[in-house]
Amino acid sequence: MAQVHTTYLRRLPAVDEILRHDQVQSWIEQFSRNAVTAEVRQVLDTYRQQILQTTDTAVLDALPMDLDTIAQHIHIQLASNQAYRLQRVINATGVVIHTNLGRSLLASEAVENLQTVAASYSNLEYDLERGQRGSRYAHVEAALKALTGAEAALVVNNNAAAVFLALQALAANREVVVSRGQLIEIGGSFRIPDIMRGSGAILREVGTTNKTHPRDYAQAINDQTAMLLRVHTSNYRIVGFTSEVALPELVQIGQAHNVVVMEDLGSGTLIDLRPYGLPEEPTVPEVVASGVDLVTFSGDKLLGGPQAGILVGKAAYIDAVRRHPLNRALRVDKFTVAALEATLKFYSDPEHAIRHIPTLNMLCMAPQDIARRANRLRRRLSGPAQCAYRPSLVDGTSAVGGGALPMAQLPTKLLALQPAFCSVADLERYLRCRQPVIIGRIAQDQFLFDLRTVQDAEIPEIATALQERVPAS
Ligand SMILES: *Cc1c(COP(=O)(O)O)cnc(C)c1O
Repeated sequence: MAQVHTTYLRRLPAVDEILRHDQVQSWIEQFSRNAVTAEVRQVLDTYRQQILQTTDTAVLDALPMDLDTIAQHIHIQLASNQAYRLQRVINATGVVIHTNLGRSLLASEAVENLQTVAASYSNLEYDLERGQRGSRYAHVEAALKALTGAEAALVVNNNAAAVFLALQALAANREVVVSRGQLIEIGGSFRIPDIMRGSGAILREVGTTNKTHPRDYAQAINDQTAMLLRVHTSNYRIVGFTSEVALPELVQIGQAHNVVVMEDLGSGTLIDLRPYGLPEEPTVPEVVASGVDLVTFSGDKLLGGPQAGILVGKAAYIDAVRRHPLNRALRVDKFTVAALEATLKFYSDPEHAIRHIPTLNMLCMAPQDIARRANRLRRRLSGPAQCAYRPSLVDGTSAVGGGALPMAQLPTKLLALQPAFCSVADLERYLRCRQPVIIGRIAQDQFLFDLRTVQDAEIPEIATALQERVPAS
């Protein structure tokens, strides 16, 4: 090592000395001694490497090695380590149930209930009336029964788990008949044939990609058949020369041969959303009323609640699923129960649900209300920002997302930016890499904000982010 290096390395304060610094002491309180010590060593190491990189004493003299400056470096490091990796995102994509962005937002009442239950003990598995052990499912089962008309209900970790558990409990080592038109894959490697194999059930494909007839099911049933499974093709549509067997007819076939009929409904809406401009989607109560034995659906898609898989149906089958040992591995936690119970309360009145549940509220939002929001954002881009972004309002469509209602094109108004000082890709990167993160869309060399999925309080935040990027002229 060069003599000059030894000289400058010696000038660096020792770890102990830094730890005794007043400010550093206060950070130890805040961040823990271990965290601060690790950062002190890290920062000193960076200094050492900078020193070793040069023998130019002018450069070395310019390196600020006083205790206060070093302490500031440590603080920057500590603060950036404190930042959460999982963070809030402003969703300006217009995709309401955006799986990559966390699907449904909870209603504020659901958040409050979740918070209360998280911070205190609760009667999660305690029956207050009888003063003895109770069931975590009891808190939502009555509401689910009332809202769907089913005899019984159960909630598990997510809908993939619900399907898996039901197959395992009711059809392991036996055959499950599925139409070839319904052997779906949804995002995140949920493929019906794979789920089936994993659960131990034996897939019996019938029909063709575009057409499956009642006789296909009837002919496939034998003494090994445990179930007829219908999978709602929620994330795509086969159009043209097609037919699938309607649920009531499938129920008849199942009953005639004494096999379970189950429908994986995927999104599962509790209310008919057609009056609000959405396409027809079978509701859970309708599916239950068709006489099907079991229905499964997600808690955080059209329902607008927490991640969960909900099973409703005939009591005997729900009981068998509940009692299966695997249910213990897939069970919901208290946060889910708390948020789901609060979400379900809104459904006693559909209007009320649409007003209070963010997912439904955004889906049913009138285009003129979205246009009003887009205008609010545009008005905030005045003066230099106006020249920098050249904002305009354009017609567009929002998507439901979450594999729900794939054909739905919800009319919306977009705020389109054509940045004059940087590329659209640069702007996209800037908005994605700052805090709060803002995600929008790019189309035809414009950056698009769909305000359907932006909360009112987020509009000024977007404006600020855009203004901060305008180059000083
Ligand atoms: C979304 C979906 C699932 C998976 O639901 P998760 O709650 O995400 O586990 C299963 N089946 C269908 C048809 C779906 O649309």
